[in-house]
Amino acid sequence: MSLQEPPSVNSAHFLQLLVKPVTNRALRTKLNVITDDYTVTNQVLGMGINGKVLEIFHRESGEKYALKMLQDCSEARREVELHWKVSTCPHIVPIVDVYENLNHDKKCLLIVMECMDGGELFSQIQDRGNHAFTEREASDIMKSIGGAIHFLHSINIAHRDIKPENLLYTSKRPDALLKLTDFGFAKESTTLNSLATPCFTPYYVAPEVLGPEKYDKSCDMWSLGVIMYILLCGYPPFFSYHGLAISPGMKRRICRGQYEFPKPEWCDVSEEAKQLICNLLQTEPTQRITISEFINHPWINPSQELPQTPLHTSRVLHEGPEAWEKVKEEMTNALQTMRVDYEQIKIKTIEESTNPLLLKRRQKNKNTAVQHPD
Ligand code: ADP
Repeated sequence: MSLQEPPSVNSAHFLQLLVKPVTNRALRTKLNVITDDYTVTNQVLGMGINGKVLEIFHRESGEKYALKMLQDCSEARREVELHWKVSTCPHIVPIVDVYENLNHDKKCLLIVMECMDGGELFSQIQDRGNHAFTEREASDIMKSIGGAIHFLHSINIAHRDIKPENLLYTSKRPDALLKLTDFGFAKESTTLNSLATPCFTPYYVAPEVLGPEKYDKSCDMWSLGVIMYILLCGYPPFFSYHGLAISPGMKRRICRGQYEFPKPEWCDVSEEAKQLICNLLQTEPTQRITISEFINHPWINPSQELPQTPLHTSRVLHEGPEAWEKVKEEMTNALQTMRVDYEQIKIKTIEESTNPLLLKRRQKNKNTAVQHPD
């Protein structure tokens, strides 16, 4: 497949995102069998950790949809609830129906989604042929991913698994929209858990400043940095030199923010783009740019059109399909490591906290109570 023109971001959609999101739709799962309403085919659209995503057709309209099947459990229900809640965002793959059906005697949740016929973000760029991918197009793509994250973060949901496989195009046409999917690791922070404070410092967090909720959001910003870097050159900022699992060396480089902008791929890329990447890949999450700052950055929301600087991305991606599989695997592993590292941290309640300011306040309250006994 070769594209005549790049897919572009619909600016009306983007503006819509800046309005307060509407998310209070109640999810009603259907109990009738899915085959009453849809013809389920054997055509596999993609493979995930939870199995195949299949092509299905609505019996009445003939429209094509994608079907994801999850075994019914609390995690699956949480994924579906969260994904349903954010399905109004134009840059998130919408769920249209959810069924509770038995499959081989096991209770399953069947999720019917818009069918993303355009495939994964980087496959489209890889298949460009002679049509060079430009810095302006990279900015448009980052703007649409940023739109999805802005929507999520503004309602206190962190996606926590933003990676190339989860960014899909609606079609292969030039006006296709890029949308984010897979809410399997998404987390909604409640007032209760945002009050708790972590009790020791993991290697890339300053927990006295950063609650769990902000940490989760800062992981999404880190992912944006990695994706933006790959978009601009075709390879990732951090490489592992040994095997597939995240190696100690790679973890060290991520934690220390050891990456470069090598020649020749980065020679013509604007300083603004490089600066934005540095802001996203800050090792200290408190220093990392927030999503509001990101969507207002001059490279994302420029006052004048960005230059159409041709990039090396399509060529680099085209040269090494095996290397690309490894890149995807490494990003999956790096994100998992970040989630696991943080989940291992014991969270103290306000009462247990030994934060000096809280100790001082407690002492003061005690003294006041002694001076003014009831
Ligand atoms: P899992 O959570 O099991 O990893 P995903 O939701 O990530 O599953 O889906 C796995 C793959 O299926 C994706 O990488 C993509 O290739 C394909 N896929 C997922 N959703 C759709 C969709 N709505 N339309 C078309 N293909 C899809």
